[in-house]
Amino acid sequence: MGRYTGAKCRLCRREGAKLFLKGDRCFSGQCAVARRPTPPGQHGRFRRRPTQFSIHLREKQKAKRMYCVGEAQFRRYVEKAKGWKGVTGEALLRYLESRLDNVVYRAGFASSREQARQFINHGHFHVNGRHTDIPSYLVQEGDVVEVKPGSRDKLREQVKAASQRRAVPAWLTRDVEALRFQMTSEPSLEDLEQSIEVNLIVEYYSR
Ligand code: SF4
Repeated sequence: MGRYTGAKCRLCRREGAKLFLKGDRCFSGQCAVARRPTPPGQHGRFRRRPTQFSIHLREKQKAKRMYCVGEAQFRRYVEKAKGWKGVTGEALLRYLESRLDNVVYRAGFASSREQARQFINHGHFHVNGRHTDIPSYLVQEGDVVEVKPGSRDKLREQVKAASQRRAVPAWLTRDVEALRFQMTSEPSLEDLEQSIEVNLIVEYYSR
């Protein structure tokens, strides 16, 4: 199935949570979840009581939509996470948080994950000095990500504007002037932008 190109706020309303898909608007009073906190559609306000299955499904959809990941890719992360020695849910969130598009967004170098993905697709970033244009690239502890020299003038103002409005999580350090940041430790799961019940997601894929 192709990528969803419809109204983004509709996805947040469907999940009943802010998924931060529209940059600055998400932090303003214009956020649709704050203004109309009911599911979209004519009968949104009259939905039936959720079943166990729908609770699991919604949590999975929420995470998938928040990180802008397709179903096949999301399923691959779950399978890889199951192979980990630790808690599967934590491993899954680490995979999602370590994606290059998420890390660029969390460092405050883009106003949304979609914008971060666009910057990366257009080849504006280097990871450890190497050209990287794959949004799903998994950033490792110690990796340095920077705007490549040829794109600095183009991106400087956008990065400055985005970074002024957002604080960085404790596992990243950034130097906005140098247009560079580093992942100094593994992504912390206490520091997610929106709480996610990972065990519900793991149970969904264990049926
Ligand atoms: Fe729209 Fe952002 Fe609010 Fe979601 S969080 S409803 S994308 S403004």
